[in-house]
Amino acid sequence: MEDAQEKKKIKVFVGKNNRATVICHSCGHTKQFDVTKFRNLNKTLRCRCKCGKSFLCTLEFRQYFRKKTKLNGHFTFLGDPSQHKIIVNDVSQKGINFSMLTGCDIKIGDMLEVILTLDDANKTVIRKQVEVKSANDRLVGCCFTDTQSYDKKLGFYLR
Ligand SMILES: [Zn+2]
Repeated sequence: MEDAQEKKKIKVFVGKNNRATVICHSCGHTKQFDVTKFRNLNKTLRCRCKCGKSFLCTLEFRQYFRKKTKLNGHFTFLGDPSQHKIIVNDVSQKGINFSMLTGCDIKIGDMLEVILTLDDANKTVIRKQVEVKSANDRLVGCCFTDTQSYDKKLGFYLR
């Protein structure tokens, strides 16, 4: 049973400033450490607690962290030029949630192109193809169809 616990990987969420908090499942000791050097690597680390237990941790970087926003944008259905205005409620490296300003028939699985302007100094424009994952009245949740590549512009914004 001890072995099973040893092999179980612990997910560690990396917060702001690239600091991760690991909690030892054996004694409850909490340790914070800087993981800047592991950034953008899906890295599994072996940690050893002061109680002598060691365990595996996988780092979850905040590219999956959702940033609350209030950004203007619009979307189009692929192949249809009409633009529908939206307010983007949150953004992550994986997708966005937005509210439609006007009612529009949107279904789960619809493919859209979303264009939004970030509220950074450069007013960076982000253009993404997304798939609708949830549609609840005017609230729509989407994930980016290209999740393989790390978006540097968004990465910078989400820092
Ligand atoms: Zn411990």
